[in-house]
Amino acid sequence: MARGFALAIHGGAGGLPRDARVAREMESGLRVALEAGAALLASGGGALDAAVAAVRVLESAPVFNAGRGSVLSASGQVEMDAAVMEGEKRRAGAVACVRRLEHPVEAAREVLRDGRHVVLSGEGAEAFALSAGVRAVDPDSLVTPFRRDQLERARMPGTESGEGGPGGGTVGAVARDGDGHLAAATSTGGLVGKRPGRVSDSALIGCGTWADDASCAVSATGQGEIFIRTVFAHAVDVAVRAGVPLPEACAGALAEVEGLGGSGGCIALDARGAIAMPFDVPAMARGVVREGSPGWVALAPEDPP
Ligand code: ASP
Repeated sequence: MARGFALAIHGGAGGLPRDARVAREMESGLRVALEAGAALLASGGGALDAAVAAVRVLESAPVFNAGRGSVLSASGQVEMDAAVMEGEKRRAGAVACVRRLEHPVEAAREVLRDGRHVVLSGEGAEAFALSAGVRAVDPDSLVTPFRRDQLERARMPGTESGEGGPGGGTVGAVARDGDGHLAAATSTGGLVGKRPGRVSDSALIGCGTWADDASCAVSATGQGEIFIRTVFAHAVDVAVRAGVPLPEACAGALAEVEGLGGSGGCIALDARGAIAMPFDVPAMARGVVREGSPGWVALAPEDPP
């Protein structure tokens, strides 16, 4: 059994940013997110708090597709999803299609804390989040000029809608704390030009987000419909439980996604200390830090130290 804390994060899978400034902003967002989560873990904080803290930083960075900087739906609006899960008792919380929250991940954590339901959507989710103390913002303040242009481009004939673009994507974190508890958090604006009301894999427990102390924690990124149809994160869990090493378990689940014509990646860590960050597209913004080692971030394929 591995000792010490660990935290892995992602900022979406897709193409390599063509713009060096965007790449720098993504890397610096990843570093700040790792530091925020690692600082909590180093001071004895829990895995869930660390995962939420890291995702919160990434939601604030407009370069990623979550919180401020989320992609726009076909009606030109931000609609965000987020989920959290803690591995000790498999408690989970999620929100879908929220528009007025700067930090959907905080709303998801409040749903978990409350414990009555697992997923809340739309105005009901917002009203609940506000009553729990999550801050509301003007939805327009979450819209960036880059995402407006991106939607315009996606509307041009012959253009496929999708995450695409040179910016970052969906964000997520998986953590193991000093007591060995696991947690996962994922937050997304979804897909460019999606139908209003569409719900992503990120918000669905067992699809884009999962944690169980007995097995592993997973946060996925990619074409959500296919990650839902393969019940991706739970497929990783089932394989790990059956004794498959974590990297192979992730690769197997990703192969199923590919088999249905999808692509993407995930970050995962298990109860024994393994960490995997596979992806089958040109790049995945990602980072990892383990207790006693410096943090590491990357966009392009290269092995972590
Ligand atoms: N999985 C997200 C969604 O389908 C998008 C992504 O991760 O790129 O909304």
